[in-house]
Amino acid sequence: MPRPVSPLPESAAVVIVGGGVMGASAAFHLAEAGVNVVLLERAQLGSGSTSRAAGGVRTQFSDALNVELARRSMDAFRDFGRRPGWEIDLKQVGYLFVLSRESDVEEFECSVALQNDCGLDSRMLTAGEVRELCPLVQGDDILAGAFSPGDGHATPEGVVQGYAFAARWWSTAARSSRWSQTRAPSRRTS
Ligand SMILES: Cc1cc2nc3c(=O)[nH]c(=O)nc-3n(C[C@H](O)[C@H](O)[C@H](O)COP(=O)(O)OP(=O)(O)OC[C@H]3O[C@@H](n4cnc5c(N)ncnc54)[C@H](O)[C@@H]3O)c2cc1C
Repeated sequence: MPRPVSPLPESAAVVIVGGGVMGASAAFHLAEAGVNVVLLERAQLGSGSTSRAAGGVRTQFSDALNVELARRSMDAFRDFGRRPGWEIDLKQVGYLFVLSRESDVEEFECSVALQNDCGLDSRMLTAGEVRELCPLVQGDDILAGAFSPGDGHATPEGVVQGYAFAARWWSTAARSSRWSQTRAPSRRTS
């Protein structure tokens, strides 16, 4: 059963187009900060790329900015039950890259060194350690692995619904933010 469409407010300090994980997160953080925000979604919340994501959450990146963004995201996911207050089924079962090319091994060694400099405990594994950690992994071309024990997976739709629910709550509490399910006009604005 589709949700009834809320009437659009006459004005807003911020208009967000797209109710995927990015738009819902932005709406929550702005609404929590007391900003008058409107989120426009043409279909269902989280029905775009977000609904197709496998839900892998990891801190293993190859540049300092993305490592730091991912580290903060993991902090937010771990605390999601309190803020915004929703179950996202986070399972920190680790995240393993299996490597079968020499060039990849060298690149991942550099990335792991960078991640360790940023305070993360990812590490390189030998081929034997990869098989021991994950017996389902087969093949005699495995050269090495890169493993981060604190990474894992969560439910993307849960993240969207949690942010959306809390944004609506802040909206009601502060009476400053609005929520709408509609398509953004395609005409250009200046
Ligand atoms: C198969 C697959 C697997 C993935 N796996 C992972 C993974 O394991 N881990 C990971 O971190 N990432 C993964 N990703 C990437 C992740 O899904 C995206 O990076 C993320 O969902 C992007 O979120 P978004 O909010 O930017 O976009 P979207 O979720 O696509 O949201 C955009 C929204 O905007 C709406 N919209 C568009 N135009 C308008 C308009 N004119 N007016 C109103 N609304 C509009 C759409 O309906 C949509 O809901 C995966 C992606 C795919 C496709």
